[in-house]
Amino acid sequence: MNMLDDLYQEVLLEHKKHPRNCGRLQCEHRCAAGHNPLCGDSISVQMAESGDRVTDIAFEGQGCAICIASASLMTEAVKGRPLAEVRQLIAAMRELLTRESAPDDAQEARLGKLAALQGVRRHPSRIKCAMLGWCALDECLKDTCDTCGVATITTEAGHASITA
Ligand SMILES: [Zn+2]
Repeated sequence: MNMLDDLYQEVLLEHKKHPRNCGRLQCEHRCAAGHNPLCGDSISVQMAESGDRVTDIAFEGQGCAICIASASLMTEAVKGRPLAEVRQLIAAMRELLTRESAPDDAQEARLGKLAALQGVRRHPSRIKCAMLGWCALDECLKDTCDTCGVATITTEAGHASITA
């Protein structure tokens, strides 16, 4: 039995209690809001970029422990990363949360702390909670995203980027 399979990992509870990068960015940024009406999660993600890198990121809003912890871990994981790697990470998280089996050691190593979210895959109703921040970030990365506009996504409108 893989200990990481439990839904509420210590690291998740800690991030829910003390979310990282919580608030608003003062610099020019892209923003997307995400809503998950099934659980009542509602957060917005702001991302600043320079060159081909995420230079700063923040999120704010209300959500359950899984939603907030996932968004908090996300901001830590992507800050300073090249945009191409951030896109790969979003895809890797989507895979982690929707796959049938647990990730292997190599995948776990690549994901680092984010691997703590793997237990979510066995709780289908919570997958949208865990993906909400990532889907909002995905929206921020789209070329069509306006720097000053807020794109809003919802888990219940059949949005392509949320497939749970
Ligand atoms: Zn939730």
